[in-house]
Amino acid sequence: MNNKIVYLVGAGPGDPGLITVKGMACIRKADVLVYDYLVSKSLLKNAKHDAEIIYVGKQGNKHTMEQEDINQLLATKAKENKVVTRLKGGDPYVFGRGGEEGLVLKEQKIPFEVVPGITAAIATPAYAGIPVTHRSYTSTFGLITGHEDPTKDRSEIDWEKLSTGIGTLTFYMGIKNLPNIVEQLTKHGRPKDTPAAVIRWGTTTAQKTVVGTLANIVEKAKEIKPPAITIVGEVVKLRDQLNWFETRPLFGKTIVVTRSRDQASEFSDRLFDLGADVIEFPTISITGPDDFGPLDKEIKRLDSTDWVIFTSVNGVDSFFQRIFDLGGDVRDLKGVKICAIGPATTEKVREFHVKVDCQPPKYVAESVAEVLNTVEDLKGKRILMPRTDIARSYLPEELQKLGADVADIIAYKTVIADNEDDAVLEKLKSGAVDIVTFTSSSTVRNFVQIIGKDNLDDFKEKVQFASIGPITTKTIEEMDIPLSIKADEYTIPGLVKAILDQVNKNVEGEI
Ligand code: SAH
Repeated sequence: MNNKIVYLVGAGPGDPGLITVKGMACIRKADVLVYDYLVSKSLLKNAKHDAEIIYVGKQGNKHTMEQEDINQLLATKAKENKVVTRLKGGDPYVFGRGGEEGLVLKEQKIPFEVVPGITAAIATPAYAGIPVTHRSYTSTFGLITGHEDPTKDRSEIDWEKLSTGIGTLTFYMGIKNLPNIVEQLTKHGRPKDTPAAVIRWGTTTAQKTVVGTLANIVEKAKEIKPPAITIVGEVVKLRDQLNWFETRPLFGKTIVVTRSRDQASEFSDRLFDLGADVIEFPTISITGPDDFGPLDKEIKRLDSTDWVIFTSVNGVDSFFQRIFDLGGDVRDLKGVKICAIGPATTEKVREFHVKVDCQPPKYVAESVAEVLNTVEDLKGKRILMPRTDIARSYLPEELQKLGADVADIIAYKTVIADNEDDAVLEKLKSGAVDIVTFTSSSTVRNFVQIIGKDNLDDFKEKVQFASIGPITTKTIEEMDIPLSIKADEYTIPGLVKAILDQVNKNVEGEI
């Protein structure tokens, strides 16, 4: 089959959510993915597992690969009958050299398609609270390269027309050249009190904006490094009212999530949506039990089991997966009543189209036995608990005291993650992290083990620690870690709420 094609795709300005649906489809079907410095790395996760992923760099003048070589690379890969997706920051045809790549492909008779992207001059001001046009301020908007060599004799840019002819001016690649840009604009008639802003890493959690006028923006932006967009025009004034992105509750906060990679996303997404820079630092990973024998035996006698109690999402997943692996299905649970410890576990059971008969109001083991015993007399009842190898013995013991016949079975193992991410330790030590979150006792123990007790002592006063519930809190305290954030409701939404409350409290404290 001949798949030969190149897609020139705009990846958007930084926020990975700002790629188009069509652009995402091109990432998913690529055999070869060629990407630049400005492309959000998290988009690469959507590539096929066996896709060849090639970084071609381009950071300012530091080119990892020359443009001619990139052009040739696209052509060569396509000629091997591959689907090649060329991912570029923003839009491929806006200061992206996509036009040059298109021409080479055309010349070599390689089919190609262009998927436009949201360009930085539109998106970064929007995320800084600046609409590029507004009826009361301007009807024109220009995109200009700020890269031009100021010592060039004849400028390609007609500064005289530009300076007063267009309302909103946006400059790409113009940081080094900012003094020259400002000089040209003012020399050619743009008033010195015209508002201006410089936005670095726009639309990402690292976004930084400085605002001034043509008279002082050079001085104000002197610490700003590329990549940044400069925007000049009256619309900049609207930022005072429309700055929605940088005012989100967790903007500017760096939060570490220590859950397993599989389980992190729900939590990370919530924090990200509130503006946080989330670092996933998995401390646990989930594997099957050493011996499936006991679990298999219980699965075979589900018809004589009264209750299955799930105390974790992983317990649900591993239990159902094992039923399926043994050739069974949900009908094996006919007549068995189900109890789930909290809303996330209940939700997981429901995903398998199975009803939950009982969920205690407090999401801890202590409340399970209490509630279950009010539902029915547990005397002589067979109860199966598919759990992890490191679960507490409290609940099975309590149930036994009530006369139940309890099978406390290992359905999965919680092991320490293979995590060698030194960059996170550096960030913790340098004070770049604001909050570290713990969502189970094993995340606490493994975190300390991975990081090292001595290292922990170096930064534990600089960072705030957050706990999902009382058992986790106890482990944190045992480890002598200062705890400042505790969830009132022992769930992920409860933990997010506690973090928000703490951050708000800190803000009020600063006033
Ligand atoms: N094709 C891209 C532009 C590439 S030129 C697009 O359409 O957006 C590179 C320049 O784009 C940078 O020097 C900077 O001026 C601007 N830029 C790209 N992404 C940016 C971001 N997230 N924040 C600020 N400026 C950005």
